[in-house]
Amino acid sequence: SWTMDPKTQTVTWTEELYRMFALDPLLPAPAFQVQQKLFTPESWTRLETNVGRALQTGEPYEIELEITRADESRGWIRARGEPQRNGSGMITGMCGIAQDITDRKRWEAELQSKTAFLEAQANSTIDGMLVVNDRGQKLMQNQKLVDLFRIPPEVLGDKSDGPMLEHVISLVKDPESFLKKVRHLYSNHSETSRDEIELVNGITVDRYSSPVIDPEGKYYGRIWTFRDISQRKLAEQALVLAREAAESANRAKSEFLANMSHEIRTPINGILGMAELLLNTELTKEQREDLEILKSSGDSLLGIINDILDFSKIEAGKLELDKFEFNLHDAIIQTTRGMALRAHQKGLELLYTIEPDVPVKVVGDAGRLRQTLLNLIANAVKFTEKGEVSITVKLLQASETEAEVQVSVSDTGIGIAVEKQKVIFDAFSQADTSTTRHYGGSGLGLTICARLVDMMGGRIRVESALGQGSSFHFTVRLGVASGILAPPPGPAQQAELLQMPVIIVDDNATNRTILAEMTSGWGMDVMVADSGVTALEMVRRTCESKEFPRLAIVDSQMPGMDGFELVERMQKDVRWRDAVIMMLTSEGQSGDAARCRELGISVYLLKPVQKVELLHAILRAFGGEQMYNSIATRPERVLPASPCFRVLLVEDNQVNQIVALRILENLGCTPVLAKNGKEALSLLSRGGFDLVLMDVQMPEMDGLTATQHIRMAETGTERHVPIFAMTARAMQGDRDMCLAAGMDGYLSKPINVRELELVLKQIGSREVADRSRHGTGNTDTEGEASVTWNAREILTKIGGDEALFREVSEIFLKETPKLIAQLEQAVATKDARMLEFTAHKLKGELGYFGLKAASQAKELERMGRETQLEHAAVLLMSFKTEVAALLGAVRKQVLGDSAHA
Ligand code: ADP
Repeated sequence: SWTMDPKTQTVTWTEELYRMFALDPLLPAPAFQVQQKLFTPESWTRLETNVGRALQTGEPYEIELEITRADESRGWIRARGEPQRNGSGMITGMCGIAQDITDRKRWEAELQSKTAFLEAQANSTIDGMLVVNDRGQKLMQNQKLVDLFRIPPEVLGDKSDGPMLEHVISLVKDPESFLKKVRHLYSNHSETSRDEIELVNGITVDRYSSPVIDPEGKYYGRIWTFRDISQRKLAEQALVLAREAAESANRAKSEFLANMSHEIRTPINGILGMAELLLNTELTKEQREDLEILKSSGDSLLGIINDILDFSKIEAGKLELDKFEFNLHDAIIQTTRGMALRAHQKGLELLYTIEPDVPVKVVGDAGRLRQTLLNLIANAVKFTEKGEVSITVKLLQASETEAEVQVSVSDTGIGIAVEKQKVIFDAFSQADTSTTRHYGGSGLGLTICARLVDMMGGRIRVESALGQGSSFHFTVRLGVASGILAPPPGPAQQAELLQMPVIIVDDNATNRTILAEMTSGWGMDVMVADSGVTALEMVRRTCESKEFPRLAIVDSQMPGMDGFELVERMQKDVRWRDAVIMMLTSEGQSGDAARCRELGISVYLLKPVQKVELLHAILRAFGGEQMYNSIATRPERVLPASPCFRVLLVEDNQVNQIVALRILENLGCTPVLAKNGKEALSLLSRGGFDLVLMDVQMPEMDGLTATQHIRMAETGTERHVPIFAMTARAMQGDRDMCLAAGMDGYLSKPINVRELELVLKQIGSREVADRSRHGTGNTDTEGEASVTWNAREILTKIGGDEALFREVSEIFLKETPKLIAQLEQAVATKDARMLEFTAHKLKGELGYFGLKAASQAKELERMGRETQLEHAAVLLMSFKTEVAALLGAVRKQVLGDSAHA
């Protein structure tokens, strides 16, 4: 501190003051000039002014001054001076204190620069910011906040956040919940929160609030940030709208296509049907060639359209998988067979192996599985010019209820480049556009396969090397049916084959291996030869040491000496006379059958050969049975050996009418046309029809309803006119409905001469049976034959065990009437649960005896399950007719048998 005498102007300093200015306290008080040097000029001026004013006014002063100490260092002091008065109020002196505030000044400067930085930072963000202390008072806000909420200056000036909050609330669309949230956050210090807030002016604000808490957990306040996200919101909304629009457009497109399927297919079917009809007439060679091109172009057009329709059905989410029991082995074999002609025409081998542990009876969508496989085989055949296409089926894993099966299709074709392998499963993509021009195709096949496989719970992948070939592998999950597996012939029969010497001649190694494995599996003594020459040489050598072959399985097509030439040579050796020679031929190899016959080859088999089929063929050959037509060729023309059938064609489409009528006429039938279900009913009431071909979709009255009416009219009579539906491929899922409605079967559209022939053949044998039953036929033996035929089928189904068959039949005869009574009661009392339960039981039993009745039971079960009993009574009626017929047939069989016994 210091004191000053105003008269003498002498100042007395305390020791501390000396030190504050880095002066030696032992020296006399600094002279005026010295004192002046201790301050910066500006500070000195201020000091002089303040002292002068204080002396005049008597008021004290307090100022901060920058000093320059004696040691030249700089600093700051807070100087206070106070005038002193005597008793009469005169100013008599002054005293003061000085405080070194250098440190504080430094901090302040630092803080200021920091704050400036913080503020700059706060203003440089795109967010509006507000910092409040623990009592909710505003500490800081940035310009962005002011702009965002258009905060007026008077509100800004207020220290508490009350007015600011009020202002913001006046802008918020939902002030109540906003306020609630703010209150909640002020009383829950640790919480952070984020919300989107809509303002009345259409702006959307993203509000974020986080507490400021030090490491010890002390709460200092909160930082609120607000961001204008209106643009983003708008963009998002636009995006959602755009996506919805795109999706709905896509859906509409797919739906349109799916719905168009009928309309598109009908005219194509007309074209194809007409072409087929024309092909059956007399034509010049040129006309025939042209027509064949027309037909094959039409076929591929239909194929592409089917692909597109299938794809759009999948895209539109309209494709549902069936879940039925089917024979997996048969499905694979038949599908493979279906491609045999095309493969053989190209000179390709088509082979398949189904590993023995692959389950036979499975539950799933047979149609879609076959479609997938067919597609892969078709591709393999299409893209392979030389070599073979082989199909392998493996069991990957199995549980009590489910099996995962892998199907592989491998070819020796052009292969697919690695980078293309990734895209071939995408829609409309083809591995190579140049090959496409060569091979054609929609690029949808594999996409459909991939989607179907996915729906079937599996995966699909490809392995391929350019120029070497491709392998497609797909897996599917299938339910495992608890039913009885397809029966291999009994061991007693097979015993004959043990040690029997056999020679297999085939140039294809895979085929050789398969055949060798099959035959050695039955205990046969197998030799294999890869050519005719080798075979002859082998046999020549073995006859010295071993028994002469009793069976030869010969591939007809081999380079060099072909199968026929080999057989001719063999036949020159008398020892072959006692042996059986089997020829493996390819479908479409015209003339093979004739050559076999010429050579007296008793059995020829179509490749690929099914294991069971080969076994049966061998057993039968050694049992002395001739088996030309049953295996080798397509059914021979049956007509007009059977009487001219009167066929009622129910069809609304004119083109289809003409095609079907002409085909029927060509087959020797007398067709009568009905344009819809109603017309059909009135025509049928006059009677006299052997068969009804029924279109399903028709105006006035559709095929299903018409059938139900027909069956109703037949109840209580002995009449049962066979009704076959004509369905398009798109209606695969509806086939069951046809059967349930009381139809006997279905034909696919476009009507195919061969399928129709088969139906007529079937009707023919039934006709004979009926006549004998009704006493119009000539002998009893014919009737017997037909019923035996029925029983045979059942017998095979249950594994060829006659005792079991009798047992099952007896249970069936005993239980069924009871169950039917129960079913009637369920329908009468509208007891859905009972209906479901009873129909389910019946369905299981009927599975062995009648496919149609079984599917009717299934439909009844469904009605029960879904509590939809409106049509149950009608269905029950036709179901009863069907079951009654079955019961009759089974009873006759069992009684007849026991009579024999
Ligand atoms: P597309 O109808 O054009 O055959 P896919 O989807 O079935 O359509 O096949 C897509 C493409 O994948 C084909 O165009 C072809 O280039 C290629 N591809 C498919 N399978 C094979 C195969 N087995 N060998 C070679 N290339 C194949």
